[in-house]
Amino acid sequence: MELGIVGRRALVCAASKGLGRGCAEALAREGVQVTIVARTEADVRRAAQEIGTIAGCSVVWVASDITTPEGRTAALAACPQPDILINNAGGPPTGDFRDWDRATWIRALDANMLTPIELIRATVDGMIERKFGRIVNISSMTGQTPNFGQANYAASKGGVMAFTKVVALEMARYNITANVVSPGYTATEMLLSIPTDILDAVKAKIPMGRLGLPEEIAKAVAYLVCDGDYVTGQQIAVNGGMYM
Ligand code: NAP
Repeated sequence: MELGIVGRRALVCAASKGLGRGCAEALAREGVQVTIVARTEADVRRAAQEIGTIAGCSVVWVASDITTPEGRTAALAACPQPDILINNAGGPPTGDFRDWDRATWIRALDANMLTPIELIRATVDGMIERKFGRIVNISSMTGQTPNFGQANYAASKGGVMAFTKVVALEMARYNITANVVSPGYTATEMLLSIPTDILDAVKAKIPMGRLGLPEEIAKAVAYLVCDGDYVTGQQIAVNGGMYM
């Protein structure tokens, strides 16, 4: 008999704040056993306690940098053989692409694209054995449509989408789904650090007239994990209508 989602193990990367934290909370509320990872110990510990209190469960936390081999080893030691993998680490180093040397490109690709690839490689064999896997990679609207100064971010987030489709194709026969959620402008610390006048100009371009909320991105992730049993190789854009 097919097991449901309750009691499944999820590794949610980059999850003490923002979208990752929203995803962790949404999954914990569904009865998933969640492990969260972030670099700052005090933050990730506090987030685990808060999510556990909200969802009425215990949440495992790991303080590590998921973009490093050691960080991934620590995460997978705390959450061996996850059934659910949420790849959410990443960010936008901005600037003129003509100024970036190879090392800068590699750093961006590493955080946004190679880290999800490494984690999928490290976890997918167990999913194959158990004939169950739910992989959600967090990309970005910038992977679909360009933004000034974000060439390496766009390249890596777009690459995640292309890679995810191949994973979805090759893993479908094992009941492993792989999908992408591409947020638009979402009210997290990362975005709210932008100067107010620029943020106002951004909001003016969003058809829904406001920033997204982390929990709105998390709903799409939770859908793919908990209910999207026959949905794979897809990209769900959650962007208030900004890119259609
Ligand atoms: P955020 O609010 O800055 O939160 C980032 C979280 O990730 C924090 O918990 C942070 O904790 C953790 N983290 C960052 N780097 C990490 C690393 N190397 N290893 C482990 N944990 C790490 O960011 P966010 O806005 O939620 O963004 C999350 C994802 O959504 C990113 O991939 C981003 O590209 C994507 N996204 C965001 C938006 C948006 O508008 N916010 C739009 C499109 C896509 P520590 O600093 O303690 O590690």
